[in-house]
Amino acid sequence: MYFFYEEEWFISLSSPTGKCGGGNKLRTYQTFKRKYCYEKYLTLVNCIKDRVNLTRLRISAHQLRIEKGRYERKNNRMLPENERLCLYCNQKAIENEMHFVMFCPRYAKKRTKMLKSLSINNIPTGEAFCILMAAKTLKVASVFSKYISECLEMRQS
Ligand SMILES: [Zn+2]
Repeated sequence: MYFFYEEEWFISLSSPTGKCGGGNKLRTYQTFKRKYCYEKYLTLVNCIKDRVNLTRLRISAHQLRIEKGRYERKNNRMLPENERLCLYCNQKAIENEMHFVMFCPRYAKKRTKMLKSLSINNIPTGEAFCILMAAKTLKVASVFSKYISECLEMRQS
């Protein structure tokens, strides 16, 4: 049973469209999660709200437009991915996890502070994104999950 489940998991991760079509919901997950394992540090994050927010971001169960846009309709069809733009800046960028975490100017101040405090402010953006989303140490998990919560609050206000 376990092996079957694991195989299923790998298949859905590696499929470009996902099992249901319309874009692979796990596309972000596969960029930083290459091994089927449990991230123990996540459970050590004290603040429940922060832990939940980070977990949701990691599994794409969040409110960013890349996901919410699935329920928006255009000409009786699902809003195409390339039209699910960020409504919180003027960059005309798709509001996906990468945009939210690394690029959206709305959270730039907080981001600079967060990257500095984890000493990952001078590495390529994609690399920093993977380190953050993988949350492999308690420090990264704590600092990053707090950043996510704060940005989500700014986003809702
Ligand atoms: Zn933005």
